[in-house]
Amino acid sequence: MTRPTFHRILLKLSGEVLMGSGQFGIDPATVKRVAEEILAIREAGYQLCIVVGGGNIFRGVAGQAQGFDRATGDYMGMLATVMNALAVQNALELLGVETRVQSAIPMASVCEPFIRRRAERHLEKGRVVIFAAGVGSPYFTTDSGAALRAAEMKCDALFKGTSVDGVYDADPKTVPGATRYEEIDFSTVLNKNLKIMDASAIALCRDNNIPIVVFNIREQGNLALVLAGEGIATIVRNGE
Ligand code: UDP
Repeated sequence: MTRPTFHRILLKLSGEVLMGSGQFGIDPATVKRVAEEILAIREAGYQLCIVVGGGNIFRGVAGQAQGFDRATGDYMGMLATVMNALAVQNALELLGVETRVQSAIPMASVCEPFIRRRAERHLEKGRVVIFAAGVGSPYFTTDSGAALRAAEMKCDALFKGTSVDGVYDADPKTVPGATRYEEIDFSTVLNKNLKIMDASAIALCRDNNIPIVVFNIREQGNLALVLAGEGIATIVRNGE
């Protein structure tokens, strides 16, 4: 199968990706490695937006289970994404990549607020724009934030970096013989309830015709390979 080529992409990094082999928090060596992957694709000329998650630090749902008010927990989760965004920004800037962080929750002394036209200008100037705080509202996730920003920034595709190399018909970590899809359409993902991203994020991508490319970001060099149409991944898009 030949994969389409993309120019402007949105990369979704879940918090989990940033904790490396740890169980919690930010692993500087892992963040550095991810930054190197990003540097490689910047150098290859792609325009890049990043949405970072916060699950390595705090999730509202987990907070609720421990007695937190859900919305309060979600705001804490959004603040966690800002910490991760700053960690990614720092690692990228150490490599000489110009970046800007824009948060959906304004935080004037920490980063820029989300302003679409301003983000557009940053991209035109070759900067990597890191979007933090998801959509800025509780009861959402950063997957929804990623789909929303991908649509607003007119990205050609949403790249979802995970710890598996694509979308399987069953969980490959628990079901032996699970098979990976090379390509699958949005409705099949939704009908089979395949857990790639939240249903709301998938529906937003479907409605705006933004393909989702699911790939393993833990494998070194994979992001550049997958972007070049090589490497192992699953592409989710609207059927013919
Ligand atoms: N969150 C939210 N609204 C958003 C984005 C995130 O309330 O628009 C909160 C929510 O509690 C979520 C947490 O921030 O659990 C961390 O984000 P997420 O779980 O999406 O991170 P990831 O799984 O990608 O690491």
